[in-house]
Amino acid sequence: MSLHGKVFKLANEHTIPAVGYGTGTKWYKAGVNELDTNLVNTLVKAIDLGFTHIDGAEVYNTNEEIGEAIIKSKVKRDNIFVTSKYWPGVDEPNKQTPYDSLKASLSKLKLEYVDLYLIHTPFITKEKNGFDLVEAWNSIEKLVDEGLVKSAGVSNFTVENIETILKSNPKHKPVVNQIEYSAYLQNQTPNIVKFAKENGILIEAYGPLGPLTKAKGGPLDSVLESLAKKYNKTDSQILLRWVLETGVLPVTTSSKEERIKSYLDILNFELTSDEVKQISEVGSTKTYRQFFSNYSIYD
Ligand code: NDP
Repeated sequence: MSLHGKVFKLANEHTIPAVGYGTGTKWYKAGVNELDTNLVNTLVKAIDLGFTHIDGAEVYNTNEEIGEAIIKSKVKRDNIFVTSKYWPGVDEPNKQTPYDSLKASLSKLKLEYVDLYLIHTPFITKEKNGFDLVEAWNSIEKLVDEGLVKSAGVSNFTVENIETILKSNPKHKPVVNQIEYSAYLQNQTPNIVKFAKENGILIEAYGPLGPLTKAKGGPLDSVLESLAKKYNKTDSQILLRWVLETGVLPVTTSSKEERIKSYLDILNFELTSDEVKQISEVGSTKTYRQFFSNYSIYD
């Protein structure tokens, strides 16, 4: 998977805008019913500034905000790439299949289809959910066949989880695996990035700014500072550009207009291959994981 200008091409020939705007993390509002008008307004601004890739998920409870923002923005729905994710549940297992869950999400999103539908975590079992991982995947394939989902993928999957799906000889293979990925966490689970690339699966990075937002004071600080000076960019932009240069699609977010604009500006400069290597090498001397740290498959 490589970057073609401002998009990545997926294995199924669909394209995906190179930087995603997330509606989880700071916008996460599970259990809250009122519409977050701040998120709606920020999303409208982000879309109109050029952020045409919106990352949502059932568990974030932000489908209504995404739908509102798409209606209010100046950009046509067909020119916006919308991701949603099936939530299997943790303490409360989701007994609804991906097929039924997505149909419910589409009505909240006020959309006829999503561009990408991911299984949010691999924690699906017959015992817990009433269906296993392969059956969940088959349910997503039905959505692709019916045109309600353009591309299907996974999130937080290990090599073994993906192999379970690939071994079932699926009609539609997963084309994306969205994982935590940053210069301080270059493999969420062993060998996942290399395996994905070899199998035509695009890695999407969530938490790409962790080294700056949560783990400042590490070995990368001075490297980022000097590259930021050289290119007249911020250290966040250098980190996001590094993600892109490693063939991975960054999913980030911000509530601030200046930062939203700056994220889009990572598409107009390049790091040299030595600089990419330097960030990878220095970054790999420290490990910092923000998400799912208490789950044994990610040890
Ligand atoms: P990032 O690591 O890119 O962090 C974005 C946050 O960093 C924003 O809240 C922003 O805040 C802040 N920020 C940016 N630059 C700086 C800076 N220089 N100094 C201090 N703070 C800064 O991504 P997230 O971890 O937020 O994840 C992005 C998206 O990924 C989520 O919204 C969600 O859609 C997805 N995700 C998916 C998961 C999954 O399991 N599949 C798990 C987690 C996330 P500000 O508003 O102040 O600019």
